[in-house]
Amino acid sequence: MRAIQKKKRGELIVLSGPSGVGKSTVIAELLGARRDIHFSVSFTTRQPRTGEQDGVNYRFVSREEFERMIADGELLEFAEYVGNYYGTSLKVIREQLDRGVDVLLDIEVQGAAKVRERCPEAVLIFLIPPSIEELSRRLHRRNTDAEEVIQRRLEKARQECRESVNYDYLVVNDTVMDAAGEILSILQAEQCRTQKRIHLAQGITGPQDEEA
Ligand code: 5GP
Repeated sequence: MRAIQKKKRGELIVLSGPSGVGKSTVIAELLGARRDIHFSVSFTTRQPRTGEQDGVNYRFVSREEFERMIADGELLEFAEYVGNYYGTSLKVIREQLDRGVDVLLDIEVQGAAKVRERCPEAVLIFLIPPSIEELSRRLHRRNTDAEEVIQRRLEKARQECRESVNYDYLVVNDTVMDAAGEILSILQAEQCRTQKRIHLAQGITGPQDEEA
């Protein structure tokens, strides 16, 4: 990494998109390319799916434990989604950002709206499927949920995609490589924002008069 790109605080990156859009695959691609990003492992009360590991995909907790965390203010945000709680640890996020590490959250739209409120500087990216038919195919192919759950998730997907207008960026997950590539470009462009590099200009001009 070039010296000029060094920054004080990490970037909070939010990625949302309907269930089955392929977020996990895109995230795996992204984390492979940007090993310096910390992926925030969420807490959830949902049951683990086949192959999911506690502490890797999620931290699986009971409803009682989750409600205790809400009451104790341990979560940056949380939401109830298709009958289960999902939430982000405030402590872990804060520690990483303070260390200058970029943090990626894979969260749904209500949680993302709360992050926007609490951390207006966060970068919000919405991943959409190429079409609703393709999303339905992907959910069926995954073969992890009952038909009734899939139908609920599809209806939820329509609602969620309406919220994409509140995000900074919209990425279509047509192919994983293209989607991950676009997200990497977004993150790079975010680093070049004048606001984040103003100290570089000031190094040349000296402090500028704010009134000017
Ligand atoms: P799934 O059950 O398919 O793993 O996740 C369902 C939804 O919950 C996904 O849209 C995912 O992004 C979202 N989600 C996962 N972790 C969190 C979290 O910590 N907070 C919120 N608000 N949503 C989350």
